[in-house]
Amino acid sequence: MTTTLWHERAAAQQIDGRAFIGGQRVWAKSEQRFDNLSPIDGRNLGAVARCDGADVDAAVAAARAAFDDGRWAGKSPAQRKRVLIKFADLVQQHGAELALLETLDMGKPIKYSQSVDVGATANTLRWYGEAIDKIYDEIAPTAANSLALITREPVGVVAAIVPWNYPMIMAAWKIAPALAAGNSVVLKPSEKSPLTALRLADIALEAGIPPGVFNVLPGFGHEAGAALALHMDVDCIGFTGSTRTGKQILQMAGQSNLKRAWTELGGKSANIVCADCPDLDAAVASAIGAIYFNQGESCNAPSRLFVEESIKERFLEKALAMMPDFQPGDPLDEATVMGAIVDATQLKTVMGYIEAGKNDGAKLLSGGRQARGESGGFYVEPTLFDQVDSSMTIAREEIFGPVLSVLSFTDVREAVRQANATPYGLQAAVWTSDISKAIQTARALRAGTVHVNQYDGDDITVPFGGYKQSGNGRDKSLHAFDKYTELKTTWIQI
Ligand code: NAD
Repeated sequence: MTTTLWHERAAAQQIDGRAFIGGQRVWAKSEQRFDNLSPIDGRNLGAVARCDGADVDAAVAAARAAFDDGRWAGKSPAQRKRVLIKFADLVQQHGAELALLETLDMGKPIKYSQSVDVGATANTLRWYGEAIDKIYDEIAPTAANSLALITREPVGVVAAIVPWNYPMIMAAWKIAPALAAGNSVVLKPSEKSPLTALRLADIALEAGIPPGVFNVLPGFGHEAGAALALHMDVDCIGFTGSTRTGKQILQMAGQSNLKRAWTELGGKSANIVCADCPDLDAAVASAIGAIYFNQGESCNAPSRLFVEESIKERFLEKALAMMPDFQPGDPLDEATVMGAIVDATQLKTVMGYIEAGKNDGAKLLSGGRQARGESGGFYVEPTLFDQVDSSMTIAREEIFGPVLSVLSFTDVREAVRQANATPYGLQAAVWTSDISKAIQTARALRAGTVHVNQYDGDDITVPFGGYKQSGNGRDKSLHAFDKYTELKTTWIQI
């Protein structure tokens, strides 16, 4: 579609910011609303319900009633599968609208909203739908005069709280396994990007998810989010967001009803390129592509690049040649690969880190400035710092923006030591032709995912989550069912 057509569609796009509770669109009980500004141009997209504790009570009550009467949990896996697959099909049918909303709300390029975000959301719903009627329960090898069944049951009412960087995908990673397993769900999207989650609720109803089973509450973290985390009738909370908020979620879960609490948190991922890397061009393209994808607003962005000293000059030459490809552009232009930063606050955070890098003595090789000021939106150039050392703020803290820090090493064991010297442990990579070095390094890296000679391997079939302060759970794969199911043992005397 042409850029003009996307802009025409954007101007005509209806925005419904009401919450979705018990199968209906409703405003917050308090009548409070907040403005939803687009990062593309600062335009107000419309009012969104500012849900608080009263709305959380209503949504949890609707979810509980739906769970207790078995309108969803009581369906067979095959029946739930059919509905989830229809849900996935409808997501694809509404793909252009969902992609547009995602781009308007969050600032990512329309090219990726269509190909990545809509695609992965539909795929996730379809995959968990397809999986649920292929899982068998167990019989324990107990004494001959007894039978002990080990079965999985839904936890009950699941709260899902998600961030703004991949609004639909993060929601799908929670709701797909939770719904497939028979739970009722209350989803709170980020206040920065609530629109696609709300449309997903309409589409779920159309697909046949019964009213009350899937509720969506837009609102702020300290209001709707905290009320969910503290709620005495929520059985489980699946949280994705910052490590700081994740710690609060675990505290609130503990101080309320000890609800099961799963956290998927921040990262400061290390990408280690050794001199015997099998394909330097591929390593450069991967390092640059992965850090600037989604404007650097990815939890697993390889924001620390360790390059072996002897190849660093060649590596940087190639990297600098790629920088023009990543200049920010109009997110509604299908040629754009770098869009807008989500809002003015995040823009200020990113610019603050760039200043910190300069002040700490890192060498700014490229970028470092705001861009597209005439648009009224929030854009930052792809930024590359060399001569970074591990003590600098930009090497220690998660920036969540298009900023790459290059560090050098002469001994891979030292690179691993520095790579691990962070509270985070989400993802890492090593590039080498030496199979022993690759495996030893992959084993030594304390991260939930380690890549060898690539960075972008991704599939719904593999677990995604972190070591250390990157969280305690795993999204994706069959392992995600562990979060949203209880194991029950039933002893039978025979
Ligand atoms: P955030 O922690 O500020 O907010 C995440 C969600 O929590 C939002 O919906 C927010 O409204 C809510 N929230 C905030 N305060 C709350 C509170 N006191 N109680 C309950 N809910 C509260 O994070 P963010 O800025 O939206 O997202 C960026 C972070 O998410 C980064 O750290 C990134 O690494 C992380 N992230 C992690 C993964 C992963 O899978 N590990 C994926 C995507 C993003």
